[in-house]
Amino acid sequence: MKVGVLGAGQLGRMLALSGYPLNHKFGFSGNTDDEPATLLGYTFAKKNTSDNIDFLVEFADVITFESENTDVGIVKKINKKIPVYPNEKSLFITQHRGREKALFNQLNIPCAPYQIINSLEDLKTAIHTIGLPAILKTTMGGYDGKGQFLIHHQDQINDAWNSMNGVESILEGFVNFKRELSLIAVRGIDNSHKYYPLVENTHHQGILRLTIAPAQNINKKVQETAQHYMQILLDEMSYVGVLTIELFETENGLMVNEMAPRVHNSGHWSIEGANTSQFENHIRAITSMPLGDTTLTHPFCAMINIISQLGDIDAVLKMPNAHLHLYDKSERKNRKLGHINMTADSQAELENSIKKLKDFLPK
Ligand code: ATP
Ligand code: MG
Repeated sequence: MKVGVLGAGQLGRMLALSGYPLNHKFGFSGNTDDEPATLLGYTFAKKNTSDNIDFLVEFADVITFESENTDVGIVKKINKKIPVYPNEKSLFITQHRGREKALFNQLNIPCAPYQIINSLEDLKTAIHTIGLPAILKTTMGGYDGKGQFLIHHQDQINDAWNSMNGVESILEGFVNFKRELSLIAVRGIDNSHKYYPLVENTHHQGILRLTIAPAQNINKKVQETAQHYMQILLDEMSYVGVLTIELFETENGLMVNEMAPRVHNSGHWSIEGANTSQFENHIRAITSMPLGDTTLTHPFCAMINIISQLGDIDAVLKMPNAHLHLYDKSERKNRKLGHINMTADSQAELENSIKKLKDFLPK
């Protein structure tokens, strides 16, 4: 089939790399001609505007997107001609933190207390109810911790609201978490489901740096609870493709932070770490192929992001159990340039491998 991807970043690139062996063809619409995916497929449009998207739609049998910041209006328009997966409803909900949290509440999925903020007055009222510390976030468009303000004291309220530049925001109660976890799952057009194990994520300054798969010391009940939340979300949205939920592990169990209607950075380990990667499973789902097995290829896996600068990549290439994935991007502060996957047969081997790559991790 011909798959059209709205966007042309590293996620699109890795979707194509996983889909070519299945005999699919790929087209992208990005913003410039030097994005990570542009040389991998037909690039039809230089901009995601409704006029230019027509070329991509003419080429493709099915459309997907690589960002929750995709314009719902464009998806609606495309959908009149060819299917878009995940569907418009899923995109509409997941691109807005308020809609997302309203759905969590509706489905009895625990999440932080929250209120939508449109003014300084709203913020003062919300802090009165939710208390401090709390995090003020833009309702839409945030990524890698951008558009967020952690409020500890009352005297930061003005600064917090000013930092939002007047856009609609959401105040969330601060969750005292033990660990951050995520769950990735895929749902097919035929309503089949597959789940990856919970993984553990470490962030630094809002950016994911390390994922350990599977997360250690997770009892069966916790995995089942996360899968239950996932299943009711997938079914409620009639979701097709890969969905990610980010979770906090707390003293009182799991709380959901947010969800992403796409393949996710915390699932990159699955390229070598699972029998079928998240990328291949997304492509299988949206092209009506049977979903692939999500079992791990090794008992211990990890992923380290390469951020800002490439570093000593020869050291990675020399390690037998490490796999380098670069995105063809130039170096820039806080930019995701690639990642390293590691597989291991024991925890000690994994820890040793991570230690060898410590220069890729924050000090
Ligand atoms: P990304 O796109 O990288 O997932 P994001 O910009 O969408 O990030 P969030 O995931 O909401 O933003 O927040 C980024 C990080 O900030 C979280 O991974 C977590 O470490 C911290 N964080 C966010 N919300 C809360 C909260 N309510 N309580 C405690 N920590 C939080
Ligand atoms: Mg997040």
